[in-house]
Formats: sequence, structure tokens, C-alpha cells
Amino acid sequence: MKLKKGDLVELITGEDKGKRGKILEIVKDKDKHQTRVVVEGANLAKKHKKTQRADRPGGIIDLPNSLHISNISLVCPKCGKLAKIRREKTEGKRTRICKLCNEAID
Ligand SMILES: [Zn+2]
Repeated sequence: MKLKKGDLVELITGEDKGKRGKILEIVKDKDKHQTRVVVEGANLAKKHKKTQRADRPGGIIDLPNSLHISNISLVCPKCGKLAKIRREKTEGKRTRICKLCNEAID
């Protein structure tokens, strides 16, 4: 899934399931499976504090309210539904298209 800063997303798991917000930050680890995002208004980490390792120094993974990318889904700003994306290349530029309403998301 390709996400960008400023994208509207919905939380699809956990206690905050259904909550929507914009991506404030994307944190990419060397390991791509560790991509995390900070979503406006979502603060799952607080609720799962016991599993957090706050003592790890400088670990960007430990951003207070970052979410694993698998916990969120892109919301189409045009139709407001959870977007299924197809990618199109027009004039050398990659565009994300919502499969539901056929509108470009970028
Ligand atoms: Zn749409």
C-alpha cells in the first residue's frame, strides 16, 4: 500500500477502529515491514503501553502514537470510502486512482 503524508486514513483494527485522521508522519524503517505512521487523532500507543519499550533510546519506532501501517487503510477523499487503489501512469507520473469512484487521489 502506498501512502503519503496528508492522506486520509481509517484505523481498521484495535480500539480506535473506525477512527479517521490524516497522516502526519511516515516513518520508514530499513525493514519495510516496519513502516509506521503517525495519524492525527489516533493514539493507540497509550493504550498498549505495557508492550512499548519506552526505554529504548533514539528509537524512532517508539514514536508515542505511531501505528503500524497494517493497522490503517486509505480513505478516498472523493467518495469517503475505504479506497481500493489502482495505479496509473500518465505522462510519466504515477497516479493513484480510487477503484470505487474512479477519481485520482493525488
Ligand atoms: Zn473514491
